[in-house]
Amino acid sequence: MNYERLFVDGEWQAPLSTETFDVRSPHDDRPVGTAPCGSASDIDRAVAAARKAFDEGPWPRMSVEERCTVLRKFVDAYGARTQQMSDLIIAEMGSPRWFSDLGQANGPWALMIQTLGFSDEIAWEQHRGGTLVRKAPTGVVGIITPWNVPQVTIAAKLFPALVAGCTVVVKPAPETPLDAMLLAEILADSALPPGVVAIVPGGTAAGQRLVTHPDVDKIAFTGSSAVGRWIGAECGKQLKRFSLELGGKSAAIVCADASLERTVAGLKFSSFLNNGEACVAQTRVLAPRERYDEIVMALAEMTSSLPVGDPDNAHNYIGPLVSARHRERVASYLDIGVAEGARVVAGGPGEVDGLTGHYVKTTLFADVDNRMRIAQEEIFGPVVAVIPYDDIDHAVRLANDSDFGLAGSVWTKDRAAGVEIARRIRTGTFGINAYAPGFESPFGGFKASGIGREYGPEAIEEYVELQSIQGVPEA
Ligand code: NAD
Repeated sequence: MNYERLFVDGEWQAPLSTETFDVRSPHDDRPVGTAPCGSASDIDRAVAAARKAFDEGPWPRMSVEERCTVLRKFVDAYGARTQQMSDLIIAEMGSPRWFSDLGQANGPWALMIQTLGFSDEIAWEQHRGGTLVRKAPTGVVGIITPWNVPQVTIAAKLFPALVAGCTVVVKPAPETPLDAMLLAEILADSALPPGVVAIVPGGTAAGQRLVTHPDVDKIAFTGSSAVGRWIGAECGKQLKRFSLELGGKSAAIVCADASLERTVAGLKFSSFLNNGEACVAQTRVLAPRERYDEIVMALAEMTSSLPVGDPDNAHNYIGPLVSARHRERVASYLDIGVAEGARVVAGGPGEVDGLTGHYVKTTLFADVDNRMRIAQEEIFGPVVAVIPYDDIDHAVRLANDSDFGLAGSVWTKDRAAGVEIARRIRTGTFGINAYAPGFESPFGGFKASGIGREYGPEAIEEYVELQSIQGVPEA
């Protein structure tokens, strides 16, 4: 898949930049495709088109129903391309087929459909005595996304923004420009007016230009907490709106009464989904001392049994990491864990036999102290730490002893007790006997995991400004 142009102002335009992205399979280095690497000037051109489309309309001035009618047709066209999208994301970033088919394309498609449904739940205009309170679109939105769930993170911003009447410039991650260009192909065939959406893959320079551009009214970002901090500070200087979906280090609290079989089966998904390259991965398992050995043994057995290899092969549970650079980073944490004194009970440092791509061994560390770096820092790979606890109060303290606050879970036969534990955990989402983000309810982080929420009707509210128009008696 080779793309030579950018999607700007409703058409395919030759990029101003001469740089390109050369995407290669993280499994076997075969070429997957190329795409332009947009420059700051390309961002300027896309923002100018989005600004014009917002200021001159018609998009922001159409009714919500009219916008949803246009978007519904787009969603139908997207639905016809989900298998192609899933295949492409597997090739681009090594997401294993079982996860990609479930979450990388059907997921965003379902999210788009649900967002259109939520448009009915918003009180777009309300009379309060003689005042009309309306929800006006925020304006031009810059969307900056990561590579791990590239379409989900775009869809979670694009659709609420478009429903609200905003115009949008999307800057996808350098590792995954191709799925964004496929999205642009579908957009190019849609009835969206020119300038309403632009797709400009690019690196840090393009991202920084989008953040600092004075004609952008809001930045919607998913990525690392480090970049999120910088974006928040820059937006603050301009009093630009922003929402941030950042990293995580989620704790799964296994209670003394938990079914071991059910817990291990659940954590196979919740800890290792998408090769562990998931912001919500349950990467700290808190185990009660009285069942500690039994839990470690069962988790080690499960971790060692996960088939690793070609992500295109549905048999494999774990694929390669996205890039050589990211592999080095994850591998360095395996060395750090050993140096910190954690006990390797599955996997560990070293090459994966028979595989030449960006693979690490799927790893379980036991005897981890929550203050160790492997318990505090986001590793973003198939690496899980088991931490012993004395009683539930201790488990709650350990779970909350983190800079992050994105997700968490508890595993117990006593669901009511689970809910009480959930209330004590400072994370944006939490699961009882399972964890997977659901598109119907708000998703986002406490603490360094972010500001703002996606999913649910709440997502749409992130793209509106409240305006009170006085002197409008109810008819
Ligand atoms: P990253 O922060 O390195 O990059 C994310 C995006 O920001 C990319 O498009 C990148 O080009 C761009 N960028 C980098 N520096 C920038 C700058 N100074 N200004 C503007 N844009 C800039 O993150 P990543 O490695 O691509 O993704 C992994 C991270 O994303 C992890 O921390 C993960 O937890 C997080 N994530 C969070 C969620 C969530 O919903 N909370 C979901 C998925 C991923």
